[in-house]
This record gives sequence, structure tokens and C-alpha cells, in this order.
Amino acid sequence: MNAMHPLSSQDIVSIWEVGLRQHPLDRALTILHAVYPDVGLQDLAALSIGQRDWHLIALYERLFGRNFSGLLHCPACGEPLEFTVDSDQIRVMHDPDEADGVLEMALDGYDLRFRPANSYDLAAILHCADVQAAQQKLFGRCLLQVSQGGMEVSPEVLPEHAVTAVDEALAARDAQADIRFDLVCPDCQHAWQAAFEVLTFLWAQISAAAQHLLYDVHILAQAYGWSERDILALSESRRRWYLEMANA
Ligand SMILES: [Zn+2]
Repeated sequence: MNAMHPLSSQDIVSIWEVGLRQHPLDRALTILHAVYPDVGLQDLAALSIGQRDWHLIALYERLFGRNFSGLLHCPACGEPLEFTVDSDQIRVMHDPDEADGVLEMALDGYDLRFRPANSYDLAAILHCADVQAAQQKLFGRCLLQVSQGGMEVSPEVLPEHAVTAVDEALAARDAQADIRFDLVCPDCQHAWQAAFEVLTFLWAQISAAAQHLLYDVHILAQAYGWSERDILALSESRRRWYLEMANA
């Protein structure tokens, strides 16, 4: 993919407006499409989840810096815990191309071909009855071929340890898809690993930025009678300056 397209104030508001009524899976694609307008939505949806998140981390850094801050509750004592993680702590792939391509493995006489999960796969398992059904369906989608002695066989014949081996190979290949970070509760010293979802942080920041921009539009439109479009087209420093005048 080419370099990221810079986002204007209008882009931030548009992403927020569209993303507000979308499922997070689509919201991630809306954000990526805004910074990679030359890449079609279908190609963005076909990125592995690790690749998708790698790009979302890069965008977060560009727009909001390297720190991801949040609030969690200790699973042992329930006390709230503020945390900040640095982007270096949660970036595990140097390059998104690391997750590209089909994997092959020979195990117990079976030849297996499989690929990491993408947004289409996660969308396909949204309405599964339970976690186990979702895992099975996801596995079935990512397993492209099972053969034995050159003959294709049903994936159902695979022994449990072969399924585990495929899962492990996929987790290693698309390492950015499942990120956890260490936390220790300062109150009870309980230590645990929390899952890191970059989209949650990025969306919270985009929402806050968009609403802040619209508030500025509200103040400046009242003060000067300018249109939303003209106000959003102002540079940050000009907007701040006029806001100070309007609030004076
Ligand atoms: Zn605790």
C-alpha cells in the first residue's frame, strides 16, 4: 500500500459520522479507506487482522502520538486502574507483509494449506451460537486445503493436535492480530494480561476529535455566521485564534 493520505478536519468528521452507525469491523475499514483511498474496501477487508491492526496503530501514532491510555478494572479486586502503553509495546510485526500469503504444513501424513483470518472471516462468525461454533467456523474458513497422499480429504479427519498446530502457526504468522499486555494492580498486586484492541483507542480519539471540531463549528458559526465547510477548512491555528476572539 502507498503512503497514508493525510486526514483533514472534514475527513475526521466524515469518518466519525459514517463510523458511528457501523459495526467495529466496518468502522476499521472506513478509517483505513480514508487514509488509503486508492485501495478498494474489498482489498482492505481481505487484509489479515494483524495487517489491519498494524495500519491502525500506524495511523494512531500519526494522529495522536505513541501513547495509548485507558482505564480497566482489576479482575481480582475490582479497583479501577489507569494505564498507558507505548506503541512499541504493542507493535509486534515490523512490516505488515510479514502476514502475507498462504502457509503450508506437513503433519502426520496430511498436507495442510491455510491463511490468517481477515475481516470477511470475522464478519462471517458474528452470528455463531457460541464461541466453539465460531472457532470451528473460523478454522474451516482459514483452512484452505487438507490432502493425504495427493488426495484432498475432509478437514474433519484432522486430529486435535493438527488443529492446534495450525492455530499456533497462524498465531505466529499474524502475530499482530492478538495483542496482550501485562498489568499489575497497585492495590492487590494481582498480575494479568489484558487484550489490546487498537480500534477501541483509535475510535475513542477520532470521536473526541470530531465532536471537538463540531463544537468549534458551533461557536464560530454563531460568532461569525460562517458555514461548517468554511470553518472546517480553517487551519488549526487560525481556528484556535478565532475561537479565542469569539470567547473573549
Ligand atoms: Zn486488584
